[in-house]
Amino acid sequence: RVAVVGSANMDLVGLAEHLPRPGETVLGDDFVMTPGGKGANQAIAAARAGGTTTFLGAIGSDSFGVTLGSRLAATGVDTTHVRTSYGSSGVAVIMVDRAGENSILVSPGANRTFLGLTDDERACVAEADVLLCQQEIPLATVAEALAAGRAAGTRTILNAAPARELPPGLLDQVDLLVVNETEARAITGGSAPDLAPLLALVPRVVLTLSGNGSRYADRDGQDVHVPAFRVEVADTTAAGDAFCGALAVAWAEGRPMVDAVRWANAAGAASVRKIGASNALPERAEIEAIFAG
Ligand code: ADP
Repeated sequence: RVAVVGSANMDLVGLAEHLPRPGETVLGDDFVMTPGGKGANQAIAAARAGGTTTFLGAIGSDSFGVTLGSRLAATGVDTTHVRTSYGSSGVAVIMVDRAGENSILVSPGANRTFLGLTDDERACVAEADVLLCQQEIPLATVAEALAAGRAAGTRTILNAAPARELPPGLLDQVDLLVVNETEARAITGGSAPDLAPLLALVPRVVLTLSGNGSRYADRDGQDVHVPAFRVEVADTTAAGDAFCGALAVAWAEGRPMVDAVRWANAAGAASVRKIGASNALPERAEIEAIFAG
């Protein structure tokens, strides 16, 4: 079982010929509304990848919260531990122009109220095989979840996205750190994405390299470049979320790390073939088809 502790947002995506400048009103084209936020996306990714998945997060008491809850449940995510807090849900207002350039405003809403885990929430994390966290909720809650997981022998994964300054000790509770090159640099402060300083902080690291796949390294001396699967790229949004969700599932299934990372590469590749975010997250059969080559 996989437990995901993180954010949920409603993504409101409007398309237009060009992005409005300050003070300007632009008559746009299509509009789509989809569940988003790294936490919800990774929970959906894990469920679609075939993992028994529980999402722990906070949604608002507005209609977006209702829709978010039902979309998660419809994907097969266990929403028993989703909190509803009085007020707005997290919302991302996204504008995209013809060239694919975007402007994004994220209003964290209920995600900001996700503080202090209850005994039930801790027990849920403790009973999971793998815990997967990101950094779009208060970091005190991330630290609490990681500590609860660690104490119970749950394998803990931190996807250190978006890059933020981390409280001291947080990485001590992490079994596997997943970062892209920007996030790696934010942690090490270095210019090259060198894994040695990261391995001084956590026992295992996956560095995602977009179209070049990923690199896995651990304290046992493994350091392996795992090449990407070649696919036709339509939209790279949420590739990282597809990757993390699938990696958590593969690890929960007991696959060896390098094999799990290769499988997660297949999930990332499957997601970039489709336009969109959570709607582009692949089903297990799609991942298997790409993995088989
Ligand atoms: P993020 O979106 O978090 O920056 P990446 O862009 O590194 O993450 O993508 C995550 C994973 O998705 C990569 O490690 C890779 O396996 C897969 N992926 C991303 N872009 C491509 C691509 N163009 N072709 C094939 N696989 C890709």
